[in-house]
Amino acid sequence: MGYPETAEGFMVESQKNWQQFKKQEFKLKPFEDRDIDIAIDACGVCGSDVHSITGGWGEVPLPLCVGHEVIGRAIKVGKDVTTIKVGDRVGVGAQIGADLTCDNCKADQENYCPNSIDTYGAPYPDGTIAQGGYSSHMRAHEYFTFKIPDNIETSIAAPMLCAGLTTYSPLVRLGAGPGKKVAIVGM
Ligand SMILES: [Zn+2]
Ligand SMILES: [Zn+2]
Repeated sequence: MGYPETAEGFMVESQKNWQQFKKQEFKLKPFEDRDIDIAIDACGVCGSDVHSITGGWGEVPLPLCVGHEVIGRAIKVGKDVTTIKVGDRVGVGAQIGADLTCDNCKADQENYCPNSIDTYGAPYPDGTIAQGGYSSHMRAHEYFTFKIPDNIETSIAAPMLCAGLTTYSPLVRLGAGPGKKVAIVGM
């Protein structure tokens, strides 16, 4: 098959043999009107990837392709997408879906949405399992797809999509700024 029905990724088949990545094809979710298809250029490595494939956070659907600091080019956009054009360099972080209608979503707290979908290892409503960025392509909702400014190199931008964001967001929301003392704990 191949794209647009499937993508290829480096997948782990068992948490016991988590060091063994095998290049495999996987199914992409059905394309919807606010989806963007991304041809992936690069993906940062996050500690969550290791926890997921080693079983540190319990079982995961297998085979699994991890990676949620994804940078690539938009190669197809759904008819209702307004924020991204074909050819844009874009990024996707650790979350790829939410209902966007619940109270948490409406309060810009979509990471607490009861219908949140993680970028990898999570089922879409049709049963397709989301797969991560150590792969050829990703199909992502525009709400979770960000245009990357030209002046930020891909290798710098990628880690901002998870590690960077999880640090930056609380600093901004809690009003950190000049003169404030802050502490950041890595877990
Ligand atoms: Zn991460
Ligand atoms: Zn929601």
